[in-house]
This record gives sequence, C-alpha cells and structure tokens, in this order.
Amino acid sequence: MEKRLRLAPSPTGLFHIGTARTALFNWLYAQKIGGKFLLRIEDTDVLRSKSEYTKNILEGLKWLGLKWDEAPVKQSERISIHKNYIKKLLERGNAYRCFTTEDEISQLREEQKNKGLPPKHDNRHRNLSKEEIETFISKGRSSVIRFKIDETIQIKWVDQIRGEIKWKGKDLGGDLVLSRRAQGYEIGDPLYNLAVVVDDNFMNITHVVRGEDHISNTAKQILIYEALDFKLPIFSHTPLILNSEGKKLSKRDCVTSIDEFRDMGYLPEALSNYMAFLGWSPKSTEREILSIDEISKFFDLSDINKAGAKFSWEKLNWINSQYIKNMESLKLSEIIWKYWDNMGWEPPSQEWAIKLAILIKDSMILLRDAIDQSKPFFLIPPIQKEGQDFLENNDCKVSLRLVLNYLIEKNGLKLENENAKEIVNEISKTHNIKKGILMKSLRVAFFGSLSGPDLIQSWVLFSESKSDLTRIERCLKSV
Ligand code: GLU
Repeated sequence: MEKRLRLAPSPTGLFHIGTARTALFNWLYAQKIGGKFLLRIEDTDVLRSKSEYTKNILEGLKWLGLKWDEAPVKQSERISIHKNYIKKLLERGNAYRCFTTEDEISQLREEQKNKGLPPKHDNRHRNLSKEEIETFISKGRSSVIRFKIDETIQIKWVDQIRGEIKWKGKDLGGDLVLSRRAQGYEIGDPLYNLAVVVDDNFMNITHVVRGEDHISNTAKQILIYEALDFKLPIFSHTPLILNSEGKKLSKRDCVTSIDEFRDMGYLPEALSNYMAFLGWSPKSTEREILSIDEISKFFDLSDINKAGAKFSWEKLNWINSQYIKNMESLKLSEIIWKYWDNMGWEPPSQEWAIKLAILIKDSMILLRDAIDQSKPFFLIPPIQKEGQDFLENNDCKVSLRLVLNYLIEKNGLKLENENAKEIVNEISKTHNIKKGILMKSLRVAFFGSLSGPDLIQSWVLFSESKSDLTRIERCLKSV
C-alpha cells in the first residue's frame, strides 16, 4: 500500500518554524519510506485564515526544498462533505444536538474552577427526547453537535516516537463539539477534530506526524475514526521547539517565521539542515552538515527525541557559516550580488565579484554579513586613528610613495596575486624597507586601519576596480 504523509497547516499566520520543522519531518520520512508528501490547507476558520498566509506557507516550503507530490487539498472546499459525516454520526447515535448556551457553559466553568476541577462539559443534553429537542428549537436556541465520549474507556495507540500512549476517556473534557452553533436542525461549520479525520481518510493518509500539542486531539480523533469505521493511520508526535528558557518558542522570541530567517541571511539548505537536528540526530554518522536528501537516508521517526528541542542560534549560525564557506563561488557571488545591488554598489566584473566572494566568505555567518565585509571594497573608508599613528613612521610614507610611483610607471598593469607579491618583494629589497612595514602601510591606505582581509588578494581587487592608486594618493595626502 502506498505510504502517504501530509502537512495540514492553518493559514492563520506566516509560515512558522514549528510548522516548517513538522513539514520537514513529514517530508524526510516520506522520502525514507518511498511515500508521498501531501498538503492540506486547513482554512475553515474564515475570520483568521488569509490567502496571503497560504501563499507564504507554500513559498516557504518551496524555498526550503520541500516539494509536495499532489495538488494541495483545500479544506474549506469540503465543508459539505464534513457535514454529511456529522449527519452520519447523528444517525448512528454517536453524536447529538447540544443546546447548552454560552452563559450556561461559562457558569459550569466557574463552578468547576471554584471546586478546583478542570473544565469539562457535563453532557447534559446527551439523552434529550424528540419533544425536548423540539422545544429548544421552537424557543430559538442554537445548537452544536457533540460526539459522545465514553467516560469509562481508555484509548491506546502506539506512537512511532513515544511508544504506547494511553488516554482516559474521562480526561477528554466531556462530549466533543464537532460543529459550530447553528439554528434549527441546521449543522454549523465543522470543527478541526471532525474535519481532520474525514480529510485524512479521504486523502488516504497512512502516517500522521505532528506536534506533541496534538496528543489529546489524537485520542479524540481515534474515537471518531472508529465511529466512522475508518482505518487508523500510524501516529507520531514530535517534540516542541523550546526557547533558551525551556518554554515553547513563540513570537516573543523575536524570529519565528521562515521569511524572517530568509531575510536575516540564512540559506534554505542551512535552515533545513538545522531544523532536522532539532529533536533528531543520526545514529550512523557524526556528520552535522548534511543535505535533506542525505538526511532522508539516515532519518527515522523512532530516532526523534521525546524531550523538547532547544533552539540554538549558535548552532544555526555555525551551520549557516559552513554552507556559505562550502558554497560554489559563482553561486555565492550571485547571491551576494543582490545585497550589493540593494546598497547601490556595482562590481566592475563577474570575475571580480567571484574573487571578492571567495575573499570574504570565511568571515560570513549570515548572507547579509556580505554588506559589512565588502563595504571597504566599494566605499573608501576613512583613515582611523590606529592607521594615522602607524603612518607616523617615516618608512610608511616612503613605501607608499614607492608603490604609487611603481604603479604609475607600470600604468595599465594587470595585477594578479603573483605580481602583487613581486612588487612588495622588489620594493622592499631595492629600498631596504621591511616587507611588514610596506604591507601594513598598504593596508592602512586601502582599509584605513590595520585590520581587514588578505592584503594581496584585496590589492588585486582594488587594482581591478581602479581604486588602488586613488586610495594610496588620498592616504599620502591625509598624513
Ligand atoms: N491545522 C492543524 C495545525 O496547524 C493541523 C494539525 C494536524 O496536523 O492535524 O495545527
């Protein structure tokens, strides 16, 4: 039988890292077992669902490389089907109309709170007679449909991550509401637990992998599966992502949407790699830099930890920096080019852009670090105090003048690493100037300070962008 997994996001906000990680685990397991990864957009909450969020989720999945195998199912298009199943449950005696008003429910909650009890419906309308139902309706009372939950039963299933899970019927909060309020004999809009069972059955889902916050829903859903004679899928509940204080990662922790991670300069491959390690680690390899295709070969749901997974910026940053370091230079330069473009900086050639990308990549953690790292190659930085002080040494100015004259004499010389090194050697030998002094003087002229990336490689770039002479001249003028 075909193995089928799904992500069922509610488009009520931007694509969240928790949902993205659930998507990744579903996708990885689908690849591992040769199954399909499907999508269902749970957009039945008309007030909170927005099409721009659906778009954001789909784009985020694509960006992360998590392709789905069939056209996404839109839950809102299936409402009449959900209602038919509610009718079936009513006819079979598994569900009933409950006319309890909002006020009555609040009063019940208040009484339970005062007694220190958890909120639970008292199933007061489970056995109404036809006449009693008629009376409520004729008085204009609205009703919800409730699913009967046997207080005496115990629900058991084998979770692929947590092993056997047991849940008592009496701990499920009383009979379960399947639909929103409606007047007369109408059935209101179906709610999550009913819709999810009907749709997972319709989509022939064989494995449900979702966050541990759904464990009690699973217990309720199993009862609905049984009442409708549907085949049960295999359930797995993944640990939550926690912040540094051990609490569920939330919007208060600043960055939670996939868009924000992208805009900060994380690479999709790095983010997916990191997310896989949030709660999972491979048993058969020590490697931590792995593509999602590689991970899918090692991946197994049974290797996922039960405990919550702490989010670590440090680890994510390290993984991102590794991906930047290992990226093909042309690709990296093209990505960085967009950041330069936004700043209005124009590289003189593609070759130059590639060389600069190679030069700065080891000091980048985020893609946007390219801005700071490459700024001195586009804009001439001011000479800082430490640079000024260094140039006070007479040899410095002499050495800069010698380099300047050399360059003027050899006007049009195409500088490469080798001949740049030769110029330094030659001048230092002929004029008896220490190589270190000469190099540091050039560094001050180019960068305005004593720090910066490799001098020779930088010089080649300044030469190509025709700013080495300008920089040396302005330096000599300013000291
Ligand atoms: N729409 C639900 C959510 O976003 C789906 C949960 C499930 O996978 O069943 O939490």
